Amino acid sequence: MSKAKIAINGYGTIGKRVGDAVSAQDDMEIVGVVKTRPSFEAKLAVDRSFDLYASTSDKIEAFSKAGIEVSGTLDELLGKADLVVDCTPGKVGATYKDLYVKHGVKAIWQGGEDHELAGFSFNSEANYDDAIGRDLTRVVSCNTTGLTRALYPLDKEFGVKKSRVTLMRRGADPGNIKSGPINAIVPNPISLPSHHGPDLNSILPHLEIATVAVKLSTTIMHFHALNVELEKDFEPQDIIDLYAGRPRIRFVSGEDNINSTAEVMELARDLGRSRSDMFENVMWKDSISKYHGELYFFQAIHQESDVVPENVDAIRAMCELESDGAKSIASTNKAMGIGI
Ligand code: NAD
Repeated sequence: MSKAKIAINGYGTIGKRVGDAVSAQDDMEIVGVVKTRPSFEAKLAVDRSFDLYASTSDKIEAFSKAGIEVSGTLDELLGKADLVVDCTPGKVGATYKDLYVKHGVKAIWQGGEDHELAGFSFNSEANYDDAIGRDLTRVVSCNTTGLTRALYPLDKEFGVKKSRVTLMRRGADPGNIKSGPINAIVPNPISLPSHHGPDLNSILPHLEIATVAVKLSTTIMHFHALNVELEKDFEPQDIIDLYAGRPRIRFVSGEDNINSTAEVMELARDLGRSRSDMFENVMWKDSISKYHGELYFFQAIHQESDVVPENVDAIRAMCELESDGAKSIASTNKAMGIGI
């Protein structure tokens, strides 16, 4: 079987990670990545042997002046691709929809776009089957991916009666200076509940969820405190057993001296992960508790990388490379070293 030909439009935080993850798979390949400017990331793309394309022809001169060779424009790249993964900034991706559709190329957008843009939102475990053969898909945001991974199995096995989640969000990504150093806790949004619950409902429409969110002066990870009422009775060990079989959930514990997101990132570095990525939800095993009959636990989400394996699975489903979601998840995990 020939490999699916994948283009990436927007080679920033998410785009460069999707580029590496796709390249690690046997059944898909990168045919080109698109940059708007000759930044260090454009040079890195060339170093990684990706063909580089400018977003529009008027940008090519800037690349030439910087001594970077481009293979053409996005328009030309789309003619060579089966699927484009749009990793441009939130709300910019929507402006490319007509172009993608004109070229008859399948498209994946990220969580910064609205659900309505693709009309379908994706999570690997929850709705792989519904993505098979689709032309347009949105991989939900890092927070929604983390919540779906946690709540979908709980709902399936124990029935979620009601979930309440407090999201403590990183103020900016580590490489982003635009948001500046902040010395504050920012209710974001101030109006309650936050949009994260409805976003999760774009994948799991029936699930009762209320979310509140604040931004903190940290860049490395998001942090979630979950409180869930379940239909069936449970003991904490049942919940541990449920998650233990899921490689995209990684347990850590205070006993191992992992008491903060800083130590989680140190673990990712020690695991030798490229860019110290932590693709899994990081769940504190010793936080999983039953209190007044309800479930409580903490998890940390590496915002820069948890959506990356989901993008790979979405490609596999949309390009009909694999009809069994569990097999796709296993292939992606193996190629990316997830669950090891
Ligand atoms: P980013 O700013 O790091 O990267 C965006 C890239 O797109 C950059 O290379 C930029 O030069 C390029 N770009 C800007 N304007 C463009 C245009 N008009 N045409 C083509 N390329 C253009 O952004 P990101 O953090 O990678 O976010 C991309 C998407 O992923 C957004 O929808 C975002 O909401 C979503 N997302 C981000 C995170 C995160 O924490 N960074 C997590 C999950 C999902």
